[in-house]
Amino acid sequence: METHVTIKPKILGFTDSRCECDRCGKTNLKGTYCIETPDQGLLYLGSTCISRLMEYSSKETTKFIKSEKELRRKQKQAEIKAATQHLEDQMQVMREEQAALPSTEQEYLLGIPSYRKLWNKITEIKAEIEKNYTL
Ligand SMILES: [Zn+2]
Repeated sequence: METHVTIKPKILGFTDSRCECDRCGKTNLKGTYCIETPDQGLLYLGSTCISRLMEYSSKETTKFIKSEKELRRKQKQAEIKAATQHLEDQMQVMREEQAALPSTEQEYLLGIPSYRKLWNKITEIKAEIEKNYTL
């Protein structure tokens, strides 16, 4: 008896550094999914071509894209956290020092130049990282 084993390509992940699909040639994509194929090596495909190649049903495609987005969101959060943790820690120390203040604490703290500086720095870092996550 002969058995047919279809080896599906491995999806390595999403990248926004490649915006052209290697399968259909579509350009101006938000990004592509990098896949590893047994015969053609690495390919970068748009989501439509990915689902065709993987023989996904529309339900599976939705699920796949949703999980990819969730993954990207988690990566982004982790990256922001890693980049801002030391600043957040400094802000936390300042917040604790001001703990006795009334409800306008945040406003008050933002009025303190060193606190505002930290706040602005974090906002800046976040915006910079957000730029790298278009999915
Ligand atoms: Zn395509």
